Amino acid sequence: MKLILLGPAGAGKGTLAAYISRKCGIPSISTGDLFRETAAQDTTLARKVRDIMERGDLVPDDITVGMLEERLERGDTGRGFILDGFPRTLQQAEALSAVTDIDAVLNLVISDEAVIRRLAGRRICSKCGAVYHVDNMPPEKPGVCDKCGLRLVTRDDDKPEAIRNRLAVYTEKTKPLVSYYRERGLLVDVDAGGTPEEVFALAQKALEQC
Ligand code: AMP
Repeated sequence: MKLILLGPAGAGKGTLAAYISRKCGIPSISTGDLFRETAAQDTTLARKVRDIMERGDLVPDDITVGMLEERLERGDTGRGFILDGFPRTLQQAEALSAVTDIDAVLNLVISDEAVIRRLAGRRICSKCGAVYHVDNMPPEKPGVCDKCGLRLVTRDDDKPEAIRNRLAVYTEKTKPLVSYYRERGLLVDVDAGGTPEEVFALAQKALEQC
């Protein structure tokens, strides 16, 4: 199964991707995670990517597409994959269609207010990247990762100004993909306002109909 998860930051793409990945035994590929790995290095490209991400802007299409294509060539994608955060522009969608077919696109539907609430409360582990939420998914000990015991931090791009910019960028650059994939008969809307379990149940139901 080759799946795309579409939706603004904070819609729960990463969480849903992890559920589907476990259930179906296919890898979840997050371009945001791949860029966070790049940004942690000490290179010119890393500095460029870091600045773009901190503002909440998009990394240029040529860099993003090259990185994704390289990732798809790894040996674990034979039975399929889940794309979390890619494509984010029409050019990326076209580039993807040139290298592989897609079975379905789950469009996670959620209001801007809910996104802002979720992102502002999101915390990640500074070492292993595990994701928590101060209200919905708190760690056992406040501010500390359950897995590695290190400090939880707010992602730079989860700060209010970057959140506003990411939502604006989503509306301008990524939302057109909803019609793009709907016209191709691949899009299924999923209400992403519920708990992770509720959203996963709706996604499973949607996938049965594909
Ligand atoms: P995410 O974790 O998916 O919210 O991604 C974090 C950041 O990585 C985004 O705000 C962008 O700066 C960058 N990024 C991730 N995926 C893409 C993509 N497909 N195209 C361009 N930039 C991306």
